[in-house]
Amino acid sequence: MMCARAPLLDALPAMYVLEMAEDVVQRCLADDRLDLDDHDPGETFGWDKREAQVAATEEMAAVAGLQRKFFASEQAALLVVLQAMDAGGKDGTIRSVLNGVNPAGVDVNSFGVPSDEERSHDYLWRVHAHAPAKGQIGIFNRSHYEDVLVVRVKKLVPEAVWSKRYGHIREFERMLVDEGTEIVKIFLNISNDEQRERLQDRVDDPDERWKFRLGDLEDRALWDDYQDAFRDAIRKTTTDDAPWYVVPADRKWVRNLVVAKILRHHLERIDPKYPAPDDEIEGVIVE
Ligand code: ADP
Repeated sequence: MMCARAPLLDALPAMYVLEMAEDVVQRCLADDRLDLDDHDPGETFGWDKREAQVAATEEMAAVAGLQRKFFASEQAALLVVLQAMDAGGKDGTIRSVLNGVNPAGVDVNSFGVPSDEERSHDYLWRVHAHAPAKGQIGIFNRSHYEDVLVVRVKKLVPEAVWSKRYGHIREFERMLVDEGTEIVKIFLNISNDEQRERLQDRVDDPDERWKFRLGDLEDRALWDDYQDAFRDAIRKTTTDDAPWYVVPADRKWVRNLVVAKILRHHLERIDPKYPAPDDEIEGVIVE
């Protein structure tokens, strides 16, 4: 499935297009024949920037409302896996889309280069420990997918080892789903040019420079290998129960609206309900 826009939409007024774009979540859903060339990182779905920002605010408010029930009900957990090339906007997405959500119900975990202790265990050990509890939205900023991305591209383990991991990951995620976790996996899809601009901005802006590592340039030189690794990871691990979405991310206002819509869609699928109050509470007067 593609994030491409039908030419007819060019002729329609923006608000109309915004309403029609309710199928955007479905259009970003990946399948096992994913071709990243079919997904334009600069896609706008015909949205106008200002209207999309207003729509995103509404979607975020809906997400916050659903999260209140989700948190109270403790019916299920929600795991959101965020992956991207460097400067793909993972941090900005978390900041924007969870704006208004009760922080007590959100658990953000970032996974960097494994520590010695983490390395002495299997690669799923450190992520499993942070899988969200019921009532919690767990955000993985990078994740177990690094073990089939950077690890594959930089040849940190032999192919015979990383190639088995797609199967482990499918089974691991299936177990989490069977035990009550809703899983959403999001690839923030930026273009090579956009990455260059964002990395350059980080170098040039003293307030952003702390985010830049010289290693980012080494990874950038391996762009094509990373794209292949992402394509294979998504193809091999997207399932009905733990789907991958490829989100156009060159424009932050498009990215924020799409991610908010995806989160809303999955929270609605859980359909959380406030716990029923005790029968004796009816009519109680608090003096
Ligand atoms: P970010 O780029 O997400 O803001 P950092 O600058 O701390 O965060 O980078 C995290 C680094 O950790 C990335 O270069 C990533 O490739 C690396 N990393 C994450 N997981 C693994 C892993 N399992 N093995 C090796 N490197 C990893």
